[in-house]
Amino acid sequence: MNKQIIAGIDIGNSSTEVAIAEISESETKFLAQHLVPTTGVKGTIDNVKGVSICLKKAVTKAGIDLSSINQIRINDAVPVIGDLAMDLISETIITESSMIGHNPDTPGGAGLGVGETILIDRLSQLSIDEENTKEYIVVVPKDFDYEWVAFTINKVVSRRVPIAGAIVQKDDGVLIHNRLDHKIPIVDEVSIIEKVPIGKLAAVEVALPGHVIRMISNPYGLSTVFSLNPDETKQIAPVAKSLVGNRSAVVIRTPQGEIVERKIEAGSITLCGTSKHAQVSINDGAQKIMEAYQKIDTLIDVRGETGTNVGGMLNGLRQDLADLTGQPANEIYITDLLAVDAGIPTSISGAMAGELSMESGVALASMVKTETTSISKVAELLEEELSIPVEVGGVEAEMAIKGALTTPGTEKPIVILDMGGGSTDAATIDEMGKICTTHLAGAGDMVTMLINSELALQDQELAEKIKKYPLGKVLSLFHMQLEDGTILFSEEPYPPYTFGKVVIREENDLTPLPIRESIEKIRTIRRESKRKVFVTNALRSLEQVVPTKNIRHISFVVMLGGSALDFEIPQMISDELSKYGIVAGFANIRGTEGPRNAVATGLVLSSKVQSGAVHG
Ligand code: ADP
Ligand code: MG
Repeated sequence: MNKQIIAGIDIGNSSTEVAIAEISESETKFLAQHLVPTTGVKGTIDNVKGVSICLKKAVTKAGIDLSSINQIRINDAVPVIGDLAMDLISETIITESSMIGHNPDTPGGAGLGVGETILIDRLSQLSIDEENTKEYIVVVPKDFDYEWVAFTINKVVSRRVPIAGAIVQKDDGVLIHNRLDHKIPIVDEVSIIEKVPIGKLAAVEVALPGHVIRMISNPYGLSTVFSLNPDETKQIAPVAKSLVGNRSAVVIRTPQGEIVERKIEAGSITLCGTSKHAQVSINDGAQKIMEAYQKIDTLIDVRGETGTNVGGMLNGLRQDLADLTGQPANEIYITDLLAVDAGIPTSISGAMAGELSMESGVALASMVKTETTSISKVAELLEEELSIPVEVGGVEAEMAIKGALTTPGTEKPIVILDMGGGSTDAATIDEMGKICTTHLAGAGDMVTMLINSELALQDQELAEKIKKYPLGKVLSLFHMQLEDGTILFSEEPYPPYTFGKVVIREENDLTPLPIRESIEKIRTIRRESKRKVFVTNALRSLEQVVPTKNIRHISFVVMLGGSALDFEIPQMISDELSKYGIVAGFANIRGTEGPRNAVATGLVLSSKVQSGAVHG
């Protein structure tokens, strides 16, 4: 009997997946599968490296030699690159007014103190004259010992110099506070203390443990403290806004204090359809952008206003793909765009402890595509390197459908939703075998970017982990509170570094988060980010693949790809689609592989020597 060994290889934007099978006239027997991260941009010769590594691992798993593979089938991967960008809708710049708003672990005392800033070693030089009714805020750089500081303050206070508060560089706020005869609020851990202006009016506020400051996080509180007129109050409002939720803060008013608010040029985009064009400003927010998109018919290209942020992003994408494929940039088109509202952490000038304020902005995912593909080059190079015949198999969506149909309980007509890293793709096949596909910008990577931004993590890998795993809060050495509020008891003590922290509950590991947000807030941000990208894109993509554009005409949707492995995304999509009477679930390729390996499996099954029966 004529037996052949076929390897199907799916080169995706994020992952390269292989399936190896032995095929005879009577049956197809799958031997192994493997997955590695894709090397280079999908559909370019850089992919060869990853493909060859993946293949070698897979043959080892299958217990065969690489040379026994009769044919390699790769997907007809069109180089598509997606990119992500975020931009502020408006940016607030505060000049010549300083603030410190942060949550040191142990500020000292509680309450509000208002006075003129003075260096600690200048205190004793103050003339204790009769009608000096001025109050002071003491500034304590790190070279001063807390015993000495407390002693000095006590001494001047006994001479009736009113001390209203202190700003301290080291973390000894409590140590100083404990030694004071007359208690004052103390904000400590102010790293850049040399920037605190001296001789200026300042307000120091510390809240009791578990409370937040009330006075200087309120614009009218600030205006009371600094005797501001309505105009000045309006100007200082952004300072108050950025201090909301802190346990301690300082605001220092400089006489020439001027707060300038300006809108940064986010720019505008022009969406070009076959007959209509629409121009929309990024400042209008995600909803307006997506509404404008819906009004035009088929999107042909998107242009960004030159000299602006969005212009730079869109042209940069075009140029990247042009460089990679050797095609002129004007032959490269932006085929889809997804805009999502997002909080963007922005540093405030005048901030002295690295404070960030959350400003509203827009995150954009876009896709570029070339007219011609370079996959034949990838095939040639692969053939040369491995000395195995390589064939470019059918269209990726068609392969994905073939693979998806190996899920037990599925049949044609079927609708697939492939949720990867860069794009969300949908495809349908009707009873006649007619296929309709779409590729939309925005998928798993965008979710990670949103989480990273909204939590101000500045750590992509950590954001990826937050996306993939549930959270917990370690309450004691043996107790952890889960997201749903239940308390988990552990036989083994939790590691000490997790104590009191919100942690990511990976399979065998706990990663404490370096941020102070509550478990509820982090969970909400995680879920909203997923919803904004995937629920939106599921609806958008399904609409495009039903001939009637009415998704109520769909009965079954099968979810595929890495993001279908997510512990919440498939459920969110199922819930949303059930409103339209659609049954949705994630695939179980060949009854064993879950939502992975659909395209690679489809490539194997579509080989010429293919047989009917499939055995895992
Ligand atoms: P592509 O087909 O574009 O190469 P994949 O299908 O490999 O992409 O999907 C990659 C995406 O899947 C990434 O965004 C990654 O974060 C996400 N992903 C992978 N595993 C998981 C998981 N267990 N939970 C949630 N997301 C996951
Ligand atoms: Mg894929």
